[in-house]
Amino acid sequence: MIVILKKNPDKNQLESLKTWLRDKGLDIHESVGMSQTILGLIGDTTGIDINLLNALDIVEDVKRVQEPYKKCNRKFHPEDTVITVGNTQVGGGNLTLIAGPCAVESEEQICTVAKLVKQSGATMLRGGAFKPRTSPYSFQGLREEGIRLLEIAKEETGLPIVTEIMDASQLPCFKNVDVIQVGARNMQNFELLKALGKTDKPILLKRGLANTYQEFLMSAEYIMAGGNEKVILCERGVRTYETYTRNTLDIALVPSMKILSHLPVIIDPSHAAGRYALVPSISCAAVAAGADGLIIEVHNDPEHALSDGPQSLKPQVFDRLAKKLYAIHEVMKNTEDVL
Ligand code: PEP
Ligand code: MN
Repeated sequence: MIVILKKNPDKNQLESLKTWLRDKGLDIHESVGMSQTILGLIGDTTGIDINLLNALDIVEDVKRVQEPYKKCNRKFHPEDTVITVGNTQVGGGNLTLIAGPCAVESEEQICTVAKLVKQSGATMLRGGAFKPRTSPYSFQGLREEGIRLLEIAKEETGLPIVTEIMDASQLPCFKNVDVIQVGARNMQNFELLKALGKTDKPILLKRGLANTYQEFLMSAEYIMAGGNEKVILCERGVRTYETYTRNTLDIALVPSMKILSHLPVIIDPSHAAGRYALVPSISCAAVAAGADGLIIEVHNDPEHALSDGPQSLKPQVFDRLAKKLYAIHEVMKNTEDVL
């Protein structure tokens, strides 16, 4: 249930309303926007009399929220969430470009790529240290050492770092990580999501291989329910019957999430495509669709990459792509919405 307040509500009346609601066992999620203040009520609201609430001086309107996701629901928080990472912002009309290799392989590799993607306009550096690989015989990542190398690349370039966590026990290693990624395979690892809900780090949550929008938002809700509201949603393609592409990019997720949620939405074209040649085109489509950013795999020597070489862009290709993406973003910003 949401309670929409009138402009400039009387402070005492508001406080007594909140106390009354809390006494009913409800949690209150307050969203103070430019034009409206909304009290989002979490818990069992069946015993609340809507007419009684509606009759209060400070109340403009009361609505029931049918969806099981509350804190990430646009109805609870009508304005877009903007998440600050270092000196950049995700959401709020900014284009976030996260670029870097699938996996951190060496200091030279990560620092070379970091410098090049920064020059091209990337706003954050990605690189996997703990790698979820389908085969136990594949490169599993440099783990703690990988994070240490990312920290060096961050120091050399100033780029905030994004890297994946696979288990809550790894959290101590993530002290200097700017954005913690939850991979597609862990989207419904609820214990991990709960642990991340207790941190204050922005979380890049990837959609699972075969999960619905509602399941995706419920996973975001797990993190937010724990108190961490800094969640970035990421679509990375879902499993379909097609085999030419690694996954099928669901571009409709972008406008759908903008309706359903207030959280920033980014696209991972690399894992969606599985082939570098497709990455530029679907990246452009993502920006045109209104995505807040992209996370793109870039490798200085894709032929010899230890993971995901076939889908990684060479730095010079990323450079050309970044220019194009910023240009499309400008057009999208400076032309009127169609609806
Ligand atoms: C990755 O980003 O390297 C990765 C493993 O992604 P996903 O979880 O989307 O497969
Ligand atoms: Mn990868």
